[in-house]
Amino acid sequence: MNDAPECIKCGAKLGKDDIGAHKKLVDRGATEFMCIRCLAAHFDVTEEAIRKKIEDFRAQGCLLFR
Ligand SMILES: [Zn+2]
Repeated sequence: MNDAPECIKCGAKLGKDDIGAHKKLVDRGATEFMCIRCLAAHFDVTEEAIRKKIEDFRAQGCLLFR
């Protein structure tokens, strides 16, 4: 997976959850993304809070987190 997107802040490889969270929380049409850790720092919340939100979105059936 050489073409896996990377976090624009720290360069970490991004998974579906990272990208989905960024789209949901920052910009639906984003083409560059932050990892969950950097998203948490961006919003000044815990990484755990972001993961909880992802679980909520997934529970709602959000297609970004399939
Ligand atoms: Zn990052």
